[in-house]
Amino acid sequence: MKYISTRGEGEESNFEEVLLSGLATDGGLYVPKIWPTIEYDELETFSQMSYQEIAFLVMRRFTGDTFSDHEFRKMINAAYSGFDHKSICPLVQLSENHFLLELFHGPTLAFKDVAMQLIGQMFEHVLRKKNLRATVIAATSGDTGAAAMAAFKNSEMVDIFVLFPLGRVSEVQQRQMTTLGRPNIHALALDGNFDDCQALVKQMFNDSKFRKSVNLTGVNSINWARVMSQIVYYFTAATALGAPKRKISFTVPTGNFGDIFAAYVAKKMGLPLDMLVIASNENDILHRTLLTGVYRKKILRQTISPSMDIQVASNFERLLFDLHEGSSKLIRMLMQNLDKDGSFDLSPKVLDKLRESFSSGTTSDEDTLKTIKKVLKDFGELICPHTAVGLAVANQEIKNIKKSPMITLATAHPSKFPVAVKRSTGVLPALPTRYDDLYSRNEVVTHVKNSLNEIQAIISERILP
Ligand SMILES: *Cc1c(COP(=O)(O)O)cnc(C)c1O
Repeated sequence: MKYISTRGEGEESNFEEVLLSGLATDGGLYVPKIWPTIEYDELETFSQMSYQEIAFLVMRRFTGDTFSDHEFRKMINAAYSGFDHKSICPLVQLSENHFLLELFHGPTLAFKDVAMQLIGQMFEHVLRKKNLRATVIAATSGDTGAAAMAAFKNSEMVDIFVLFPLGRVSEVQQRQMTTLGRPNIHALALDGNFDDCQALVKQMFNDSKFRKSVNLTGVNSINWARVMSQIVYYFTAATALGAPKRKISFTVPTGNFGDIFAAYVAKKMGLPLDMLVIASNENDILHRTLLTGVYRKKILRQTISPSMDIQVASNFERLLFDLHEGSSKLIRMLMQNLDKDGSFDLSPKVLDKLRESFSSGTTSDEDTLKTIKKVLKDFGELICPHTAVGLAVANQEIKNIKKSPMITLATAHPSKFPVAVKRSTGVLPALPTRYDDLYSRNEVVTHVKNSLNEIQAIISERILP
């Protein structure tokens, strides 16, 4: 399996290179050169298999010869051994045709653990084999950072630095990042918003001298291995509900477009999916794009679903590349327009293709709070605000897809966002007992200004030999 960049200027890479480098050297995102497929007969056998076995069958199609089958199975088993549910990503039925896919049973209580725990295993394996240390740097709106730190906390090969926007992550998220007490783990609180964090990380990657000097690598949602690991639960969930014999729809609370892009890949691989619904909070760039064909940045708004407070959905570039039939020339043009004018236009043909696979909706904080309350009343389930955005939008869409079951992704545990949940329901969601001491642990955090030089200096100084 070979990978190419959406901007078309780098060399072809194998999985190991893609895993370790995160972003392609030309500033583009790696995509597989062809989409591997899974035949109908094989899909029919999935409903009898464990999560781990399906994970192996789906992902080995992307990993080439980087791992032996035995090694890869071992890594998958280790990655999911810390989940507190035996199904890893269980389905919960809400109504006749509507299900929740719970993705928050990992160590940091959000769906990002599903990918990050496996990435931790894969990094350790590859770096040990090469006898090489690496520096992981990540920007986070809260959940990615915590998940990445949890994934590397026992690593002997990786130093990790996480940039998060000061004051804009929940206290649980912050404490998950600042209380690990490991010498290879560094929480950096930035004076700025998530997009500033993300821009700084991009600049560090584009600084080839710095990149080399610390052996920089990224595990943000632009890392292909993240997307790859997320493809799996679309297969497990859809086949558990009757695919490939019937089509399934998904609604995905969306920020950076990584999670829902994984659904699109599953469809490309042969999983019969009906509608993929993009659910946005008031940062609704993707919803506006589907309505108007114009992708335009707007001022970032802070909402009660902060992990989706994103102005530019980085992974959308991967979809655009596919919708433009692999024309990196067109992608470079669109991205130049985005840099220059803050927007680009989709051609009518591309917009039609986009609307064939996706629909979208947006919801306000007020409706998000109402949804949390209604779900508790109707189904006795406490949900997090991101999941509530998903359910609010799914309920707008569900009438259009009467035939197929709808699965909405539950992306975080409600206790990760206690303020919003309490405000809506009056109920304070309890953290799982393994977090009993979270508020008594000592916090270690470095405040940083929005300055590339300052942050690069901190990183160079702190990496372990
Ligand atoms: C990251 C995150 C999202 C958004 O996922 P993307 O892959 O960025 O679209 C939604 N909900 C929660 C809880 C998250 O942590």
